[in-house]
Amino acid sequence: MTRTPTVGVLGLQGDFAEHQALLFDLGVAARVVRTVAQLDGIDALIIPGGESTTIAKLMDLYGLREPLVAFARSGRPVWGTCAGAILLARDVDELDRPGIQAMDIQIQRNAFGRQLQSFQSQVAIDGISDGEFPAVFIRAPAIIDVDASVEILATLPDGKIVAARQRNLLATVFHPELTTDVRLHNLFLSMID
Ligand code: GLN
Repeated sequence: MTRTPTVGVLGLQGDFAEHQALLFDLGVAARVVRTVAQLDGIDALIIPGGESTTIAKLMDLYGLREPLVAFARSGRPVWGTCAGAILLARDVDELDRPGIQAMDIQIQRNAFGRQLQSFQSQVAIDGISDGEFPAVFIRAPAIIDVDASVEILATLPDGKIVAARQRNLLATVFHPELTTDVRLHNLFLSMID
């Protein structure tokens, strides 16, 4: 694309400001999206980590669910991190209402235990060069099954899938925006054509 892309960050709840700050550091126009109108002119969207039930509820309250489903179907890149990955998944346990359900993955919430079991781990990710990624898992979900059309990008030694891509959709169950490592944000930006 010749013009500079604008990346939206869904700003209903969670750590959207951290994504936006990191995108600003990369020189990318980043806009917090809270209304349907603010989706206009967005080339790609990040759904941040936070609390997936709360984000899903606010999505309904602001009438954003259908527009977000349409956005994901439009082929523009969408990246869900942690709670965002939960909202992107077609199958989720224990979510009291549907999310966007655009990506053919099955997710288990809180798959590593409670907040106190949060941890950081070095993870090798397909498509990310120059070494492993410092992945921060905060009461994280795990991807436990994927359709054949989903590319698995990273797996932990116990077999839990922690990063995956399907066409324009990217899911990571950890928090790249809480590190200074911009490689996954750059990978996402490279998905914008
Ligand atoms: N445990 C949260 C949920 O299920 C996700 C945690 C996070 O985004 N860091 O929504």
